[in-house]
Amino acid sequence: MDAQETKKKPARGRLFFANPGPTNIPDSVLRAVSQPTVDFMSAGFLEVYDGCMEGLKRILKTQQHVFFYTASGHGAWEAALVNVLSPGDTLLVIETGYFSMGWAEMAEALGIKIETVPADWRRGVDYAALQAVLAADTEHRIKAVGAVHNETATGVALSIPAVRAAIDAAKHPALLMADTISSLGSFDFRMDEWGVDLVVGGSQKGLMLPTGMSFTGVSEKALEVHKTSTMPKHYMNWTAMMGRRHKSFIGTVPVSLFYGLRESLRLLEEEGLDEVFARHHRLAEATRRAVRTWSGNNGPQLFCLDPARYSDSVTAVLMPEGHNAEAIRKICFDRFNVSLGGGLGPLGGKVFRIGHMGDLNEPMLLGTLASVEMALQISGVPHAKGGVDSAMSYLAESV
Ligand SMILES: *Cc1c(COP(=O)(O)O)cnc(C)c1O
Repeated sequence: MDAQETKKKPARGRLFFANPGPTNIPDSVLRAVSQPTVDFMSAGFLEVYDGCMEGLKRILKTQQHVFFYTASGHGAWEAALVNVLSPGDTLLVIETGYFSMGWAEMAEALGIKIETVPADWRRGVDYAALQAVLAADTEHRIKAVGAVHNETATGVALSIPAVRAAIDAAKHPALLMADTISSLGSFDFRMDEWGVDLVVGGSQKGLMLPTGMSFTGVSEKALEVHKTSTMPKHYMNWTAMMGRRHKSFIGTVPVSLFYGLRESLRLLEEEGLDEVFARHHRLAEATRRAVRTWSGNNGPQLFCLDPARYSDSVTAVLMPEGHNAEAIRKICFDRFNVSLGGGLGPLGGKVFRIGHMGDLNEPMLLGTLASVEMALQISGVPHAKGGVDSAMSYLAESV
């Protein structure tokens, strides 16, 4: 049957939401955000807020500074750039894919000069090439290095310690900025130990919250550099924020999101962060095994070609030549009420993405994988059967 002929039936049962962000919101978080309005200066709320600040620092693994923003992740990116850079400064962007390009585009619009370390999107950057670019910058024009920890568009992760090592080996003073929007709370990240100066994170991925809140972790070094930044800024100016009781927010505080954050932090810590990471790894590995099986008979393949860089929060699946990923997404959504991520930018139509981050367990993932396998059959895409079996065999054996 042609993908166009499938009709969306009235959906029954759960929507299997397998986008790589936003993600499923746990029922207890939904209940938490439905709290009635309270005064954001009330003692009751301040206690919740301060607890969230401390809890988030434990997730970031930092004892330095955190600033919150009422904005999606892009807002925190902008806050990171305007608070430490000045017009005409150079930002070195490590190319990873759609999101690194977006970061560069934003910086350029702000009057920041961009240099890029190019990379093959399926393999990720060569750390020696990064080190060479930094070593060649003897005048230290590069003020910061922008790294996307997990490129959500490709399912290729970057080693932040390797990026730090390249900066150190080049003896370069640039700040290290890391976008952890689709990795924080899903796999390992350590702000202080890894020497990250600026961490950008958002609410609606591994933290399992509604969209609308983002934050930056900021090192002492970055806070010093902030004092010299001449970029125009007001709403997201850290100096102004530090003068407020919440040490963030020039206007109204989004209290509902903090009730939600308190609950999502409780869930993460109840399970234990290492257990959370192990669960993400299991579900990611099961997904990869399914895709590897489908890739027989010239079927769809893993977009990421380097096993050392597989992402544990999202898998991008590359369609065989001549087959459109959008047809698979449409069948999954219309017939099975399963929502998958599409290809972003130049990968549009070429890949679909299975998000496996946040509030997810084995049967939820297996339902999604089974729907994809059925969609491959329905749309006549070449593949080998048995992807779901590969995932089940692996999951049955791993705890
Ligand atoms: C989702 C995402 C963003 C964008 O965040 P928004 O909340 O949509 O603004 C940026 N970077 C990465 C790596 C992401 O996954």
